[in-house]
Amino acid sequence: MKVFISVDMEGIAGIAHGRQVSRGSDDYPESRRLMTEEANAAVAGSFEGGASSVVVNDSHGDMYNLLQEALDARAELTLGSPKVPLSMMQGLGPEFGVALFVGYHAAAGTEAAVLDHTYSGRTLHDVRVNGESFSEAELNAAVAGTFGVPVGLVTGDDKICEVAFKRLPGVRTVAVKEGYGAAVARSLHPSAARAAIREGAAAAVGGASDLEPFRPPGPYRFEVDLMRSGMADLCFLVPGSRRTGPRTLLFETEDFLEGFRCLLAWMYLASNDS
Ligand SMILES: [Zn+2]
Repeated sequence: MKVFISVDMEGIAGIAHGRQVSRGSDDYPESRRLMTEEANAAVAGSFEGGASSVVVNDSHGDMYNLLQEALDARAELTLGSPKVPLSMMQGLGPEFGVALFVGYHAAAGTEAAVLDHTYSGRTLHDVRVNGESFSEAELNAAVAGTFGVPVGLVTGDDKICEVAFKRLPGVRTVAVKEGYGAAVARSLHPSAARAAIREGAAAAVGGASDLEPFRPPGPYRFEVDLMRSGMADLCFLVPGSRRTGPRTLLFETEDFLEGFRCLLAWMYLASNDS
């Protein structure tokens, strides 16, 4: 079975503050190492669970954070940006048996959640699908669902684990820290987190044939609230977009992937607001 692992940074054990996840800070090299070791734990667990091959997708920021020499040599790595059209799920296809999300975090606007945001903390205030706020985990799980691929494991802070457990059928979760605030957490030791992730990945891959893909029913209403009205001015350039408020855009479609592409287009356009 081919296994796809999407690895973000905000939900890695030992990480709580924005400086730790920002390239250029003195803490960043250590965060890259922590991220790489949690990815390795998921890769090791995947092979223990019966994976035939593993692709790791670096899914944080500029998406070339994982330390290649230190990454498990059995895994292939997808890196670089901008990754379009699937971003944190770039390279996923129907040939994969299961997807695992490591280092994930809660949606923008979640209370007591470490570094909560949805795709872009600078531009997107809230992302909704059919009226419900969606986290990155839910958006990406629905992308996987379009290929018939289920999500077997979500690791990260306690808030995203709670959401994933409720929303994604049969998913296993590993909470590596409890969020006390947007930049404060009580974390497991990295070695304890890795052991739990390895075990979770093995169980998720071993039990993947029992999982159901996440397929929210269409048609889909994709909505974003932008941080500023100037961002909404730019997002309105996307054909088919409707402006339903000073900072709110709406796009309706039968095709989830088309809606997801529109979301990414809004995000990239909004980032040009001066
Ligand atoms: Zn991130």
